[in-house]
Amino acid sequence: MAYEDEPKIIHQHINVPDIKKIDVYEAHDGYQAWRKALSEMSGDDVLNEVKASGLAGRGGAWFPTGMKWSFMPKPVFPKYLVCNCDESEPGTFSNREIVIKHPHILLEGFMLGCYAIGCNHGYIYVRGEFMQGYATLRRALAEARARGYVGKNVLGSGFDLEITLHVGAGAYICGEETALLSSLEGDRGQPRLKPPFPAVEGLYAKPTSVNNVETLSNVPFIIGQGAAAFRQWGTEKAPGMKIVSVSGHVNKPGNYEVPVGTSIRKILEEYAGGVLGGKGIKVFFPGGSSTPMLTPDKLDTPLDPQSITAAGSILGTAGLCIFDEDVDVVKVTHRLLRFYKHESCGKCTPCREGNDWLVAILNRLAQGRGKDGDADLLVDMATNIAGRSFCLLGDAAATPVLSSIKNFREDYEKHITNPIEEKVFIPLTSGNGH
Ligand code: SF4
Repeated sequence: MAYEDEPKIIHQHINVPDIKKIDVYEAHDGYQAWRKALSEMSGDDVLNEVKASGLAGRGGAWFPTGMKWSFMPKPVFPKYLVCNCDESEPGTFSNREIVIKHPHILLEGFMLGCYAIGCNHGYIYVRGEFMQGYATLRRALAEARARGYVGKNVLGSGFDLEITLHVGAGAYICGEETALLSSLEGDRGQPRLKPPFPAVEGLYAKPTSVNNVETLSNVPFIIGQGAAAFRQWGTEKAPGMKIVSVSGHVNKPGNYEVPVGTSIRKILEEYAGGVLGGKGIKVFFPGGSSTPMLTPDKLDTPLDPQSITAAGSILGTAGLCIFDEDVDVVKVTHRLLRFYKHESCGKCTPCREGNDWLVAILNRLAQGRGKDGDADLLVDMATNIAGRSFCLLGDAAATPVLSSIKNFREDYEKHITNPIEEKVFIPLTSGNGH
């Protein structure tokens, strides 16, 4: 079946002209789930339905959303829901398409989330460089407010809800939930020690749940159609759909919403049009640039958290980055490490100093001025960053180094004397190809 004819949840109406306008959204059953929740369900009913659906966090952690919400202590007020709209991982761009094209589905999911946890004031934290998304959300929120979906006594239900949009200052680390909360409070965006976890002591030291854009955008379907309808797709352990961002050397890069567990080969060959120029694949990231690289013998792996872990990587955000047989993995790693070095917040020594040194060695390899033993030195340094840093950015930076040397050590040996060819194009992000 053509991709356009496959069933979808979030993408079902995403290409309807003007779906970002509230009239069009309402004409396609928009805000029906919100009306249903307020008129027929308690907050606990909404929470229990999300729990029954098995929805898990689509931002990369795949932690069950209903369980996360149930950790919020009931008698403590105020409590907060915060939407993490700080997507900045190279190769991951599913959230930005939702926000730009389909903002009301996110707002409706966010409202339902607030209702489920008893939050009367929620925050949507938008990435600093994503002003188009901020402007789109601001217009959509104004429309929703004018219709009475936000504000005092929403639709006569007695439930009050305020939503604030907040733009960050453009730091990748603010996608980490505690750094995001620090930034939201006006402090420097750096991760906090856990525990206490945000569910106990989050925004303004109150119970807080931080949820991803795609996760929340699934909630209107779950409340509107029921948990069983959501579970008709996906796997037993990871039900539902996942939006896969496909980028790199493919004919039709873009976002594809598929049942969790769809094989990588099917996504690549049937939806993304195969590899550019009909070439073979040298390596791919299954879940964004911070996940271990896999080789083409793993292309038949189902795209679900358990199968990808068994294959030796992590599903993460399902940012599927494909590199053809001619790619220079040292160039890929060099480019990624410059990104992680730049985005290191500087709080802890292994990440702040270690990434600087990794890039210094990769710089000399890139210039063909490496030294014997540079690959071993990189492994030694990366091993001392991974697992020894304050937050996962350290691991994210070490991963491409370790996985590329494990699979392609000969590429590193080559660059001891041969500089990187600058003309080789390595795309890591993309627009939409469908
Ligand atoms: Fe900051 Fe990097 Fe340490 Fe995370 S690992 S706290 S980003 S310096």
